Amino acid sequence: MSKPIVAVVGRPNVGKSTFFNKVVGRRVSIVEDTPGVTRDRIYAEAEWNGIYFALIDTGGIEPDSEDVILSQMREQAQIAMDMADVILFMVDGRDGMTHADQEVGNMLRRTGKKVILLVNKIDNPRNLPADFYDFYELGIGEPIAISAANMLNFGDVLDEIVESFPDGAGDDDEDSIKVAVIGKPNVGKSSLINVLLGENRVIVSPIAGTTRDSIDSPFAWGGDEYILIDTAGIRRKSKVNEDIERYSVIRAIAAIERCDVCLLMIDAEEGITDQDKKIAGVAHEAGKGIVVVVNKWDLIAKETNTMRDFKREIEAELQFMSYAPSVFISVKDKQRVFDVIKMTKYVAEKRAMRVPTGQLNSLITDATMMKQPPSDKGKRLKIYYVAQIGVKPPLFSFQINKRDLMHFSYARYLENKIREGFGFEGTSIKFVFREKG
Ligand code: GDP
Ligand code: GDP
Repeated sequence: MSKPIVAVVGRPNVGKSTFFNKVVGRRVSIVEDTPGVTRDRIYAEAEWNGIYFALIDTGGIEPDSEDVILSQMREQAQIAMDMADVILFMVDGRDGMTHADQEVGNMLRRTGKKVILLVNKIDNPRNLPADFYDFYELGIGEPIAISAANMLNFGDVLDEIVESFPDGAGDDDEDSIKVAVIGKPNVGKSSLINVLLGENRVIVSPIAGTTRDSIDSPFAWGGDEYILIDTAGIRRKSKVNEDIERYSVIRAIAAIERCDVCLLMIDAEEGITDQDKKIAGVAHEAGKGIVVVVNKWDLIAKETNTMRDFKREIEAELQFMSYAPSVFISVKDKQRVFDVIKMTKYVAEKRAMRVPTGQLNSLITDATMMKQPPSDKGKRLKIYYVAQIGVKPPLFSFQINKRDLMHFSYARYLENKIREGFGFEGTSIKFVFREKG
């Protein structure tokens, strides 16, 4: 299921990343080591009272001048307005209101989105600075005084965030498959999108007006409906050079969060880059379906094993998602372009698949007989019962004797067995471990 998106916007040094880390820090981290963007503090999953959402820190790199700060903030605000369900606008209560705050406030005031104004660094809430009330002038509602460093007033902020999610945010539109086309500039995303939309003129104009889908394009193929996410965002370029990569990554992350299947486009001549790996890591952690689309295959001189060798490179570079299928296409020559859609559908189906509990448990029993579960200080891991408790992505609950005994490598082994036994190509699968009391 796609989660509501909450984006944090604000000047450098107001405390955005402190806030981000504190909110996210409460969450138990995922055991796996994926090269996700999580470590760069751009994106993380957060939770409050059982409601999950994606938190995105839109902050840019340290700018050196007031001009750069302003253009960075405009870019942040634009991303937030395009993508987020709720925008957190953070200002610094010690500095008081600045010109940049006013500019961004003007932009955000005009959006139809929910904006929450956070005045940070109010370490002593009983002693509000005199100019605190200036922030009312921004016209975006009641400022909330917080101290990110001390987590003061976090309960109020988190309550307000989750109460502000629009109805239906995070719900699945069961009938259509949401697809995000992700990749570096010039790999051929627009070309692919044009072919997909252009040759499938069911509805080609973007739907406007809905709170979050203003730039989504629906199309139909082979009797199925698809929604292409964020095509406009991909086209827009940042004026601040050093930030182009960061902002395109942030946009990509927001699009991934909303999709069912992510098409990771790779340039056949360039191979897989670090940025591709980061993006793939986010899709993996977010539990999305993924198809690796190698484009510009026409430019490659083919020898007997060219495709096999390329597949091996993909496997080596994207080891953490060896389940992702790849398709080799040339948008230019219209070669295998619609295989991309067939594969998208296939992966979406696998991601939504449910397996029978009986078969699942006998598969796990067999697996534990083939490879003994780990033990520690004479105590051995016991798995009593397994059930699939969710789809999109497939989620399995294991009843076990002791959580500490479930080592990552053994969980990985069981994951591979489940994949071998049932398929689940193209989708990450998730486990929860519950101790039987
Ligand atoms: P960002 O650039 O907006 O991500 O800001 P950071 O999170 O990096 O914070 C900038 C500085 O403000 C750091 O030195 C933080 O320790 C400090 N800071 C953040 N939150 C608070 C707060 O609630 N109170 C005080 N006094 N300082 C804070
Ligand atoms: P985007 O920046 O990812 O949206 O990439 P574009 O769709 O704008 O394509 C970038 C360039 O690559 C354009 O000049 C395209 O004509 C070219 N291109 C796209 N697909 C192919 C392909 O399959 N083969 C070749 N040779 N060029 C391609």
